Amino acid sequence: RGKKMVEKVSELMDKPEFIRNIGIVAHIDHGKTTFSDNLLSGAGMISEELSGKQLFMDSDAEEQARGITIDASNVSMVHEYNGKEYLINMIDTPGHVDFGGDVTRAMRAVDGAIVLVDAVEGPMPQTETVLRQALKEGVRPILFINKVDRLINELKVDPQEMMIRLGKVIDKVNKLIKGMNEKMYSEGGWKLDATNGTVAFGSALYNWAVSIPYMQKSGISFKEVIDKCNAGDMKGLAKSSPLHEVILDIVVKHLPNPVDAQKRRIPIIWHGDKESPEGKAMLNCDHKGAVTMMVTDISFDPHAGEVATGRLFSGKISRGMELYVVGTAGKPNRLQQVGIFMGPTRVEVEQIVGGNIAAVTGLKDAFVGSTVTSNQDIAPFESLKHYSEPVMTVAVEAKNMKDLPKLVEVLRQVAKEDPTIRITINEETGEHLIAGMGELHLEVITGRIRRDKNVDIVTSEPIVVYRETVTKKAGPVEGKSPNRHNRFYIELEPLDEVIVDAIKTGTVSMNMNAIERRDALVALGMEKDEAKSVKDMYNSNIFIDMTKGVQYLNETMELILDGLHEALDGGPLADEQVQNVKIRLMDVKLHEDAIHRGPAQVIPAVRAAVKAGILMANDQLLEPAQKIQITVPQDQMGAAISQIQGRRGQLTTTDSEGDQIVVNGVAPVAELFGFAGDLRSATEGRAMWSTEFSGFQLVPASLVNDVVIGIRRRKGLKEQIPTPNDYLA
Ligand code: GDP
Repeated sequence: RGKKMVEKVSELMDKPEFIRNIGIVAHIDHGKTTFSDNLLSGAGMISEELSGKQLFMDSDAEEQARGITIDASNVSMVHEYNGKEYLINMIDTPGHVDFGGDVTRAMRAVDGAIVLVDAVEGPMPQTETVLRQALKEGVRPILFINKVDRLINELKVDPQEMMIRLGKVIDKVNKLIKGMNEKMYSEGGWKLDATNGTVAFGSALYNWAVSIPYMQKSGISFKEVIDKCNAGDMKGLAKSSPLHEVILDIVVKHLPNPVDAQKRRIPIIWHGDKESPEGKAMLNCDHKGAVTMMVTDISFDPHAGEVATGRLFSGKISRGMELYVVGTAGKPNRLQQVGIFMGPTRVEVEQIVGGNIAAVTGLKDAFVGSTVTSNQDIAPFESLKHYSEPVMTVAVEAKNMKDLPKLVEVLRQVAKEDPTIRITINEETGEHLIAGMGELHLEVITGRIRRDKNVDIVTSEPIVVYRETVTKKAGPVEGKSPNRHNRFYIELEPLDEVIVDAIKTGTVSMNMNAIERRDALVALGMEKDEAKSVKDMYNSNIFIDMTKGVQYLNETMELILDGLHEALDGGPLADEQVQNVKIRLMDVKLHEDAIHRGPAQVIPAVRAAVKAGILMANDQLLEPAQKIQITVPQDQMGAAISQIQGRRGQLTTTDSEGDQIVVNGVAPVAELFGFAGDLRSATEGRAMWSTEFSGFQLVPASLVNDVVIGIRRRKGLKEQIPTPNDYLA
């Protein structure tokens, strides 16, 4: 069977109109793993005996042990629809919010998403998050309402009540889509509608699904579904309405093929010149054009080494080809193997054309999020925007000194595999720091280093990541170079929130051409003379060059940006990243002799001016916070609320849903250590809960001093907070 499947897949791979690239997004526990398992076995990709017993897409041992899906893995299926065969490439995404970064990158690779929602629970906070990620990437949603068997068997609903309940779920998801992308909702036909078949419902566990068009086609009625279910005839249902048939029909019919999808998606994810030959090749998914690929996953195969998986948007790749990784200065990389995934196994093929998901070896410079091309000068794809940001850090050390070189190599690997973690070295102590999305995320990463990579490490307690920002205007500030011959005058102020959001979501970026960027910024309310002079965007800060006719400035700009970045990487208060600041360069005086305006002069001068300016603009400390949702029985509500309020938390809403109470709140990450255990004991284990990143907020004035001193001590900095004069003297 395997051999034949490979042949079919290879044939379909060359015909993009017959391809669908899809992902499944869901709140944890809504049944995504069960669903994808049964789709695969139904489509003949794994034996029926195995599915259900084995978490097919969870190839990582960590995932098996915890029963959660961590890495997005890739699988291809063949499905026949109206007498024609289609290739369906499916990327698995994790349901746990600590791994939100994986959802973002999976969404970059696909064109359509199956939003899976539990019929009893309805859409949950993470349903909203993952749906938003899909829509931001221009990915079209369809809906599967799962666990309908529970409505029938446990809640004993009749056909009419079932219609009402399913209708409510559809309305809720539609409301989310409408709020996130009004245009596609009302004009693009993205409104979900049971009658046109963009919604299906059923039971992943019992392997059946129905949609209204399928019921009409096969003559099965609501009542029959309920009767069969009541009679416990799950086998009969799975036979008359098999999950994979119903779902894959919808996928082929309603989700776009790569040719159609790229016309709409390329302008969202790529800001290069659409009229250039490369731009046209991408828009048309043309395999005769330049190779453009976005790497969305890196994994390590014990035999083949580093495997880069990603979406090929245009061109054709084959073994031996030389490709560039944009942004790495190195020589081109030579492709070794070129393949596709079938389940957890990679199958080598001769060539792959645009519109497919490819897995290749030999791209030694590639990292998750990188753009790979045959033409070095192509603008890169927009970087992956993560909905959550790293909020916690652990320090790691090799237990045995002799393992240090191995640890350094392994850390380089894990950083390539997971773009949501950040690895830095503490210059004072020589420790390596890993910043991640939360406690669980860091546990998984350090566990992986120990087990899969076999490095014995010691880890510190996790530490919260802070940020700095300004709250008022300052300047002009004068930064002088050590030789006093170069001077930089800057002004700073808080950056408008709408512009911060636009930078974070990639709707404005330095990859846009200057005119497009200027217009986008003006539309967001920036003055035209500022908008046209933006020189840099860095960690949601903007740098604007307001000077006129300064000699030698262009050739010095790189050094100025280096100094700027150094200052923004570690603010004066606590050496934490600075965000949301607008910095304007007002005037510059440069020595006419290049020797006297080199890096050793320019970088420290700019760095000092920016750091002093941040202090003068009222440097503030920000801490990360999480949204928390707790669902508990009525009589445990008080206990749940006090778990939030006792942690400097704010209660936002409490709603009742059936006999359960849903409590929503926001609390700082710093107070959430041990939350799971405390909540469990306070509610006798009867609470269900989830958290989600909610952004950075000001550390309360009464705590700032202690927190800052704590951070400075830990980092080996002088306890005394610097003053502007310390930088400018
Ligand atoms: P994931 O976290 O979204 O991957 O969810 P899983 O596939 O692991 O499913 C979570 C739980 O729900 C498991 O206990 C499944 O057996 C159960 N489950 C999944 N689908 C169904 C369904 O259609 N009906 C019922 N009754 N349970 C289901």
